Amino acid sequence: MFRHAGWPGGNCLQAMQVLTTVLLKPGEADRILAGHPWIYHGSVLRLTQPAADGELVQIKDHRQRFLGVGFYNSRSKINVRVISPERVTVDQAFFEERIRAALAVRQRHLPNATSFRVVNAESDALSGLIVDKYEDVLVVQTSSLGMDQRKPIILAALQGMFSPRAIVERNEAASRKFEGLPDANGILAGSLEGPVAITLNGLRFEVDVLGGHKTGLYLDQQVNYQRVAELARGGQVVDAFSFHGGFGLHAARAGAAHVHLLDQSAEAIAAAMRNAAANGLAEQCSSEAVNVFDWLKAQTVTQPHEKIVPRWDLIVLDPPSFTRNRASVPDALRGYKEIHLRALKLLKTGGTLATFCCSHHVNAGLFQDTVLSAAFDARRVLRRVATYSQSPDHPIIPMIPETEYLKGFAFEVVR
Ligand code: SAH
Repeated sequence: MFRHAGWPGGNCLQAMQVLTTVLLKPGEADRILAGHPWIYHGSVLRLTQPAADGELVQIKDHRQRFLGVGFYNSRSKINVRVISPERVTVDQAFFEERIRAALAVRQRHLPNATSFRVVNAESDALSGLIVDKYEDVLVVQTSSLGMDQRKPIILAALQGMFSPRAIVERNEAASRKFEGLPDANGILAGSLEGPVAITLNGLRFEVDVLGGHKTGLYLDQQVNYQRVAELARGGQVVDAFSFHGGFGLHAARAGAAHVHLLDQSAEAIAAAMRNAAANGLAEQCSSEAVNVFDWLKAQTVTQPHEKIVPRWDLIVLDPPSFTRNRASVPDALRGYKEIHLRALKLLKTGGTLATFCCSHHVNAGLFQDTVLSAAFDARRVLRRVATYSQSPDHPIIPMIPETEYLKGFAFEVVR
């Protein structure tokens, strides 16, 4: 009965000994050693014994060198998601430690934020787990089978650390299908009525955590809202693809003369105008529920010999990702070019274009090339005055290229 008592870690060691080993093919270990957590089916040489989907396995290279432990899923193209380079036990304490480390990163880089992404999957060595904090409400996404199966201990860890009013699950990500997981959406703990009122950079926003885009808001732009707003003072501003008015409301508060919000979703526009009113900014704001492509076209189509009179000082373009895969990049670039071409025609000389691209498949260089090609066609010369990235609660791990997706620029129109 006391056999393990004098042998610290004995239980843990025993548990480890029964872990199935996934052996990698020659040449496949370096990626994992470098810190990338994904092991594709094609990299696997063999398993030493059958493993259940979701089970913790150990990974070794073809020479039996230990590389780490991770969650196995035969149904996914990503057969193993590495969770640690060490022989860890994945229990509640493990999640507490990882989440605490992730939280410390946010506290260091976003010290004043009360709503932010607490855990950003691969960025925080927790592939398959996203946790967003909207004041005292947490929103969780589990996009891998291994994580999904461990939801009870993850929730227990979150309860202990944050004592949230509610924990909500927003599990409709397309990636869940590739893991064999069904959609799931609802309250996992606590209770919630109506939208959550949050403060972002001192502005109030209403967040519909159960039904909004992503997990409710685009937290990845939190830092950029303020930086772009610095360029808005006194100006006539367009916030195109505004969603709930993140850029527009920050610009209005920073002293824009007027902000025009555009989004094709009538609900998003209604929420943006409610947010404008809640912050005392409604008088400075107008809005239209329109397709931005159509709006820009209507503003830029001219009769023969008619000239466009540029009337805007700042145009913000923050469209959704136009491409989810490499194959559709050319189409996406045509879309990006069109909105830039038209937006550039509408800007006054000296005006500013603040533009974002959230597609992982279009990198900053390609994105800038597209803007420059539009500028050439519009016969405008640009001065780049700022570059933007995702907010630090969506950390970039360069060894894991998939963690980097949001890029943006501010360009002034020289002529
Ligand atoms: N700038 C926003 C996020 C934009 S997300 C923020 O910081 O919160 C993209 C938005 O574009 C969504 O709200 C979506 O409804 C809208 N959208 C997508 N395609 C559109 C189109 N063609 N015209 C207008 N809005 C569009």
